[in-house]
Amino acid sequence: MKPFTYERARDAVAAARAATRPGAKFLAGGTNLLDLMKIEVETPTHLIDVQDLKLDRIEKTREGGLRIGAFVTNTALAADERVRRDYGVLSRAIVAGASGQLRNKATTAGNLLQRTRCPYFYDTNMACNKRKPGSGCSAIGGYSRQLAVVGSSDHCIATNPSDMNVAMRVLDAVVETVNPEGRTRAIPIAAFHRLPGNTPHIETTLEPGELITAVTLPRPVGGTHVYEKVRDRASYAFALVSVAAVVQKDGSGRVAVGGVAHKPWRVEAAEAAMPNGAKAVTATLLADARPTRDNEFKVPLVERTLAAAISQARTA
Ligand SMILES: Cc1cc2nc3c(=O)[nH]c(=O)nc-3n(C[C@H](O)[C@H](O)[C@H](O)COP(=O)(O)OP(=O)(O)OC[C@H]3O[C@@H](n4cnc5c(N)ncnc54)[C@H](O)[C@@H]3O)c2cc1C
Ligand code: SF4
Repeated sequence: MKPFTYERARDAVAAARAATRPGAKFLAGGTNLLDLMKIEVETPTHLIDVQDLKLDRIEKTREGGLRIGAFVTNTALAADERVRRDYGVLSRAIVAGASGQLRNKATTAGNLLQRTRCPYFYDTNMACNKRKPGSGCSAIGGYSRQLAVVGSSDHCIATNPSDMNVAMRVLDAVVETVNPEGRTRAIPIAAFHRLPGNTPHIETTLEPGELITAVTLPRPVGGTHVYEKVRDRASYAFALVSVAAVVQKDGSGRVAVGGVAHKPWRVEAAEAAMPNGAKAVTATLLADARPTRDNEFKVPLVERTLAAAISQARTA
């Protein structure tokens, strides 16, 4: 591991200001960042530990939704009574990820920003545009079973590995931030994660130094909430494909898919076909899919996983 300096932030704006220093990074639960530092994929020169900022409460909003502090742990969020009752898809998605120990440390903000699990991103001997811009993409023409089938580019075909993000997308969450000048922003989750284009190392629309302070959920939308995750092992594995669905009694609803793109994948236009079943939804959802030979199985897998989610919701 490369040497680095460390500070504990006491104030959000001061933390954001400190993060404009070249090579500085925020440290939350550390379950992703510290792993990447140990193998020198991430090499920050300064860590700003933000966990003392007391952004660890879940509160009702005036609009009838919930405001989740950036450092609420994944365990606390999944277990919260209001989340389990009104946003069940979020609770189910979180417990489908990682392990109990990891979820005790992992935070809401850190989960939103966890890096890809593309194997070449982790191997510093291999070319990777995300790790080293301009170096090439070893996954294109390489081993790509886990990787993206839609929204990818000629520069990167990585996926966003988070389960939580898929549920946040289907719930239309909003990411709240503060910047080094103290200005706050509310970024709809649809506009938060980016597609790779020719800058796959820029994964979100956050600006330098911008600190996530909370994630807000709108008023509950009702319906039956389902999270289906298909993976190589029954637990402790990232999704090959996952589906977050909210299905209403009349068959209408919302759906977002994980494991298929650089961001949680939702195409609102596809949702009009929900009452007609999974095949009709998938046709629009993945209309622009460009799978590789290794991962073309994901296209029918999305349809089958969505069919299972819809059927589960209808029989609940
Ligand atoms: C073995 C293993 C298995 C896993 N399996 C799964 C799984 O199946 N599904 C799943 O979804 N996840 C899985 N995870 C990932 C886990 O969910 C993430 O590591 C965790 O959510 C990251 O949260 P953290 O608080 O530890 O983030 P950190 O590691 O502390 O930070 C992650 C990133 O977020 C940045 N950051 C943190 N807080 C802020 C903030 N407030 N504002 C701006 N930037 C910030 C950091 O600078 C860093 O770049 C797994 C992890 C491991 C190690
Ligand atoms: S897919 Fe993206 S993360 Fe993987 S090697 Fe290519 S550029 Fe790197």
